[in-house]
Amino acid sequence: MTSEPTQQPQQLRPMPTDWQRALAVVAHPDDLEYGCAGAVAGWTDGGREVAYLLATRGEAGIDGLEPDTCGPLREREQRASAAVVGVTTVEFLDHRDGVIEYGTALRRDIAAAIRKHRPELVITLNHRDTWGGVTWNTPDHRAVGRATLDAAGDAGNRWIFPELAERGLAPWDGVRWVAVAGSSTPTHAVDATPGMERSVQSLLEHRAYIEGLTDEDPETYCRTFLGQNAQRSAERFGGKPAVAFELFSR
Ligand SMILES: [Zn+2]
Repeated sequence: MTSEPTQQPQQLRPMPTDWQRALAVVAHPDDLEYGCAGAVAGWTDGGREVAYLLATRGEAGIDGLEPDTCGPLREREQRASAAVVGVTTVEFLDHRDGVIEYGTALRRDIAAAIRKHRPELVITLNHRDTWGGVTWNTPDHRAVGRATLDAAGDAGNRWIFPELAERGLAPWDGVRWVAVAGSSTPTHAVDATPGMERSVQSLLEHRAYIEGLTDEDPETYCRTFLGQNAQRSAERFGGKPAVAFELFSR
């Protein structure tokens, strides 16, 4: 009888670096700051352009605030948190927070943004049912994640949304990858260390949201969450804390 070899966790591969423009598409203010922004900081440091597109203004995200007050507040927090990691283009689609519908309207809105920004890399947040195990994901994340994966193809096909060309948005078939942050089945990663401090400051800009979420000191909360998040991927990335992505090539 031979003994089973020790099971080594499959290593995460480095994210591609041969690209210039990225577009990150998520449902809510703060979705990119719970991990992904650390990678964005490194990318913008290297001279790459990253733009953010948010499906909603997160107006249903704070229990103690009416949506009419909450939406503009969270938009301001999102713009400030993007600026911390070198992102100055932040756009909003104004779908309704909490009840975003997966469908052709959402796909068309995202395809329009992809045609406008012409990214090689598209980033989104976990489109899967769970965060791993039995931690259920939210319907908005699933809808936007799936629609983003689909829109990467829609953007390149002149016949799918012909009305976009009439608005001056020519097809863009140059998306080479869609990288999904927060996936329970990641394949690739970025070293989290160079961008860690800015990722903490970036998440901290969502102060009203975080103060509504926890009684913990906001900075301690951000530092602990992002540090533990990056450390979880280290075992699969040569011991280095990492921001992990599930990468779909096109
Ligand atoms: Zn969210």
